[in-house]
Amino acid sequence: MGKTVDLMEYQAKELFAKHGVTTTLGVVVETADEAKAAAEQLGGVTVVKAQVKAGGRGKAGGVKLAKTADEAFEHASNILGMEIKGLTVNRVLVTPATPPVEEYYFSFLLDRSNRSYLCIASVEGGVEIEEVAKTNPDAVRQIPINALEGVTAEKAAFIVDDAKFPAELRDQAIEMVQKLWEVFIEEDATLVEVNPLARLEGDKLEALDGKVSLDENAEFRHEDHASFEIREEADPLESKAKDKGLNYVKLDGEIGIIGNGAGLVMSTLDVVAYAGENHGGVKPANFLDIGGGANAQVMADGLDVILNDPQVKSVFVNVFGGITACDEVANGIVGALGILGDAATKPLVVRLDGNNVEEGRRILNEANHPLVTLVETMDGAADKAAELANA
Ligand code: GDP
Ligand code: MN
Repeated sequence: MGKTVDLMEYQAKELFAKHGVTTTLGVVVETADEAKAAAEQLGGVTVVKAQVKAGGRGKAGGVKLAKTADEAFEHASNILGMEIKGLTVNRVLVTPATPPVEEYYFSFLLDRSNRSYLCIASVEGGVEIEEVAKTNPDAVRQIPINALEGVTAEKAAFIVDDAKFPAELRDQAIEMVQKLWEVFIEEDATLVEVNPLARLEGDKLEALDGKVSLDENAEFRHEDHASFEIREEADPLESKAKDKGLNYVKLDGEIGIIGNGAGLVMSTLDVVAYAGENHGGVKPANFLDIGGGANAQVMADGLDVILNDPQVKSVFVNVFGGITACDEVANGIVGALGILGDAATKPLVVRLDGNNVEEGRRILNEANHPLVTLVETMDGAADKAAELANA
């Protein structure tokens, strides 16, 4: 009892739209380039909004107006990867900007302490409602809802009048309140919150933000709710890698793989899988291409992701020095181990080849790190990594 699934704004708005609550869906994207394309497609002024399960995004700099598509790109690059209340922003919502004339607050929630439903409404919305409740408690109306009667047209009218919604908006507000109640009941929600519920130019009411918590116990009644969770269940290591700009895919094995260049990493996977057959059937744990920049920070980021995979028993670093020469890569590895310190606990097998390979090997030999084994050939290194993973 009591488990809920909290939705992101864009998901809440999907449910609003499903029940006829006026809102603008916009486009959800995961990169700044996609944000720019979305803004171009939408045309005009847009809003770029961080999608995390936390309020106060506006205050944290996670909601920005963009006059042009280039500005949308700028804002998205700043907002993506940002942390809001400890949550990393992995996607942004780009919507047409609809300037609010006034901002109201509206919610339905399950009041567990009174075992009933409660409506909270205020014409002083936009900001956090707890703040309004402190500074101007009379402006925050709390209206109990009888569970058996629900929100009839009469009840909706009572709420709208009690909260003192403007007369020009009365009919729209009554309709909106009934539709939000429909979302609350038909979706088995424990919370439906709109802040701001905005008055737009031309006296239109629109849900500019949305927060919905669903009762997980009722999930069997809602096939469409499953997708809300699945979209959030991406592997945490993959999300972490993505945040650091790494090209990482988690696999099922025990040998962590780091390489530079997608082609080299692909063939490393093959060689490691083959070597694993002689060592208890151990397999590659991931695909990780650190690309051209194998400096200490990139290497540390890559190792950090891989070493946090509890399945990983050993790591194979396979680098071919090109523009980034082997000595830089070697310094990167030594630097990464320095950065990670005690967090590095698993054996590393390193194979270097290409530009400045002699100097690279010299640097690693000199550092003589207890976790690092340097092997000259790719096959030999794969075999060593498999052996260590099977130890
Ligand atoms: P929160 O801070 O996490 O609650 O995020 P909100 O979605 O409520 O956004 C914060 C503020 O940004 C709102 O109170 C609005 O003033 C503004 N805002 C949000 N969406 C829009 C929009 O579509 N257009 C405009 N012009 N402002 C918006
Ligand atoms: Mn809000």
